[in-house]
Amino acid sequence: MIPVGFDYTRAKSVREVLNGLATGDAKLIAGGHSLLPLMRFRLAQPAKLIDIGELEELRGIEAKGRSVRIGAATTYRDLVDSTILAEKYPIIIEATLGIGDTQVRNRGTVGGGLAHADPASDMPAVMLALDATFNLRSKAGKRSVAAREFFISPFVTAMKDDEMLYDITLPAPPRKAGMAYVSFDQKASGYAIAAAAAIVTKSRKSIATLTLALTGVGEKAYLAEVPDAIGTHGDDAALDSALSAVADSAVVNSDVHASAEYRAHLARVAAKRAIQTALGRAG
Ligand SMILES: Cc1cc2nc3c(=O)[nH]c(=O)nc-3n(C[C@H](O)[C@H](O)[C@H](O)COP(=O)(O)OP(=O)(O)OC[C@H]3O[C@@H](n4cnc5c(N)ncnc54)[C@H](O)[C@@H]3O)c2cc1C
Repeated sequence: MIPVGFDYTRAKSVREVLNGLATGDAKLIAGGHSLLPLMRFRLAQPAKLIDIGELEELRGIEAKGRSVRIGAATTYRDLVDSTILAEKYPIIIEATLGIGDTQVRNRGTVGGGLAHADPASDMPAVMLALDATFNLRSKAGKRSVAAREFFISPFVTAMKDDEMLYDITLPAPPRKAGMAYVSFDQKASGYAIAAAAAIVTKSRKSIATLTLALTGVGEKAYLAEVPDAIGTHGDDAALDSALSAVADSAVVNSDVHASAEYRAHLARVAAKRAIQTALGRAG
C-alpha cells in the first residue's frame, strides 16, 4: 500500500527537531525500518516527518567517566563495531547481532527501536538489565527517565509527543560481572519470541548478584526477580526451581509464533541459559 501524503523535512539541528515536534502531528524518522512499514499499512499517518538521520550529534558512543553515552540515532552497525561496548557491555553487541539482518542493522537505530517499544524487540531487555537512563529533550527542556520506567505497554513509552530521545547513559556495570543475552528468535525477522538478558556477579563459584530482564514474553520487556538463584552454583536443578515462576508476572503473549504455554517455557529456558552463560563469563 502507498502511504497517505505527508510533509518531509531533513533536520539540520536538534533545535529544528524540537520546534517541529512542538507544532504537533509530526513524527521523527531515523532508520525508518519500523515507521515506514506502519505508514505503508496506514497504521501511522503523520502529517509531517522530521528526518534526524543527518544529525551527527545524535550519533556515536563515548565514554564519560565511568559511564558511557550512546546517541539515539546511533545505528546497530555502530554498536556492533564499538570497541567501548565490546569491552564494557558485550551484551549489547551479543543482542544486536541477532537484530534483523545486515540491512536492518545498517539503517536501524538504537533510539528508534527503543522509542518504538515493540514488545518483541531485543534492546529493551538489555537496557533494563544494564539500568540505562534515557535522556529526553523537548522545546520545554530536558529530562531523564530510567529505562525501568520507560516502557509502559506495547508501542507506548513514557515519552511525550513533543519529546525526542536524545541519548542513552549506561552506568558502569558491576565489577567483574558476566553478561549474556539469549533469544529464541522468530526465524524470518529475528524478533524475540522469548529472550533473556542476564548480568551476574559471582562469589567463589556461586551467584552473588543477578539482574534478569525478559522480552518477547509479555506486553513489554520487564525485570524478573529470581531471589532463589542467589547463592546457588547456577546448576540446572537450582535454576529450574528458581525460574519456575519467571514468566508468571507477565500476561504471556500467544500468537502464530508460540502459544502462551510454550512461550513461558522458552522464557524459562532462555533465562537459564543466559544466567549460566553470564556466570561462566563472570570474573
Ligand atoms: C526486517 C526487519 C527485521 C527486524 N528484526 C528485528 C529484531 O530482530 N529485533 C529488534 O529488536 N528489532 C527488529 N527490527 C526492528 C528494527 O530494529 C527497528 O525498526 C529499528 O530499531 C527502529 O529504528 P529505526 O531507526 O528504523 O526507527 P524508525 O522506524 O525511524 O522510527 C521508529 C519509531 O521511533 C520514533 N523515533 C525514532 N527515533 C527517535 C528518537 N530519537 N526520539 C524519539 N522517537 C524516535 C519514530 O518517530 C517512530 O515512531 C526489524 C525490522 C525489520 C524491518
